[in-house]
Amino acid sequence: MNKKFVFVVGGVMSSVGKGIAAASTAALLQARGFKVTNIKCDMYVNIDAGTIRPTEHGEVFVGVDGVEADQDLGNYERFTGQSMTAINYVTTGQVYQEVIRRERNLEYGGEDVEVVPDIPNEIIRRIYLAQEKAAADVTVIEFGGTVGEYQVLLFLEAARMMKLQHPDDVAFIMVSYLPYPKYLGEMKTKPTQFAVRTLNSAGIQADFIIARGEKELDEKRKKNLAYMCNLKEDHVISAPDLPSIYEVPLAFHVQNFDTKLLKTLGLTSQVSNFSAWEKLVHTIKHAQETVKIGILGKYFKTGDFTLADSYISVLEAVKHACWAHDCAVAFAWIDPEEFEENDKNLEELKKYDGVICPGGFGSRGVEGILKALKYIREKKIPFFGLCHGMQLACIEFARNVLGINKATSAEIDAESADQIIHINPHQLKNVQNKKYGGTMRLGSYDVALKKGSIVQQAYGTEKASERHRHRYEFNNVYRESMEAAGLKVVGLNKENDLVEIVELANHPFYVGTQFHPEFESTPFKPQPLFKEFINASSMNNKR
Ligand code: GLN
Repeated sequence: MNKKFVFVVGGVMSSVGKGIAAASTAALLQARGFKVTNIKCDMYVNIDAGTIRPTEHGEVFVGVDGVEADQDLGNYERFTGQSMTAINYVTTGQVYQEVIRRERNLEYGGEDVEVVPDIPNEIIRRIYLAQEKAAADVTVIEFGGTVGEYQVLLFLEAARMMKLQHPDDVAFIMVSYLPYPKYLGEMKTKPTQFAVRTLNSAGIQADFIIARGEKELDEKRKKNLAYMCNLKEDHVISAPDLPSIYEVPLAFHVQNFDTKLLKTLGLTSQVSNFSAWEKLVHTIKHAQETVKIGILGKYFKTGDFTLADSYISVLEAVKHACWAHDCAVAFAWIDPEEFEENDKNLEELKKYDGVICPGGFGSRGVEGILKALKYIREKKIPFFGLCHGMQLACIEFARNVLGINKATSAEIDAESADQIIHINPHQLKNVQNKKYGGTMRLGSYDVALKKGSIVQQAYGTEKASERHRHRYEFNNVYRESMEAAGLKVVGLNKENDLVEIVELANHPFYVGTQFHPEFESTPFKPQPLFKEFINASSMNNKR
């Protein structure tokens, strides 16, 4: 069987769920018995997402190999359970860097190196590499942004070349947005028609349109779109807003999207196994109670808007854990800077069944978070600190329990004598030499778990492997006194003697991890610590 490639491109505007559509497409093909993998191509010149501000770009997803990637790789992992690594993530920067490297090595044998075809050829080479590594029957490749953007052109050219070389093995899906102006009361297809024409002008014909919008797309407009865009009539797939992203694969399946796509690719399958998805959606729809989880983070606000995308894997991991307990979740965004202004605001923390302090960088909001953590610790509200959150939990404990009033982190005060969180010489060199890109402690490392601790019982194993993205570390000088006062080190990286998990004695759940457990969670395999945190939060809810 020939290997197959499905390109997913966007029309009209971005952020309408192209990533979920690409993840769902892969999940459908998987449920039909095929081996799949996903690739995300991002148009920016950055080598990776690690150097982009979270409020600009959303979360930086970290792969097991340490790749700092676009958050869509998280969607792919959550939907297909396939591990995404550097090979599944392509940026304009990587492509040019490789072409220029080869040119400097005389690898083009004296030929001149041209933007076309050498740049598209490098994109194609990367697509095949990812396919080969996963031994995938079908590779789903998503292009960031929308067609018509200047920077997408060379990626579209790569896709066009692949279609030309393998006409029967390549298909195109256009995920487009259909506005629904309230004063009109109908969905408008014209912007999508223009998007498809723009794709045509790059030499590409869409095989499918996934029609995103507030509402279900009616037959009349489907027919109109198919006719105007040169598509088979039943190749326009309706994709209305749904309460949960995990309903999307089944919503596509009931429109026979999987069968139609297989036919377009010249594939057939007797397999059709959607029971896991059906069970998941049933669980989501039949939650017994709702737990209120506060997210104590600073990357929400962009202008007048709130952007939950900065913590997408955290939010998804909480949902997965909730469903494992037949709960639903209500999130609230807690702005730590409010506590800096007024202590009275701390009372509001009582409203939450549990609080998470996710990853973060720099000093903004830190004093507010520290105040909140003291309150949470003393009032015995279930708490889960992730990376930055774990570091701040240690600092709060050092200040208010150990009496080290000026306890801080080297990230906040590089000169301080009370660095509970410090920097190792190797990382210090990176910072001093401004070597920021891809130099943090990244990817999966083993964590040895302390027997009998809450976290060890939650994992049910002696060892875990979790993903990291940080530069600073717990300073072992303070380990003994901290443990003696009740904040126990219950997870350790033995190779380098690094503190990985702390856990408070005599508290329903007060845990901080130096790693990011959220990246390991999928709806079919919730992460154990999130599960235990939700368990404690749900008990708090019932109190
Ligand atoms: N800023 C901290 C560090 O670099 C924590 C990073 C994070 O939360 N991902 O160590």
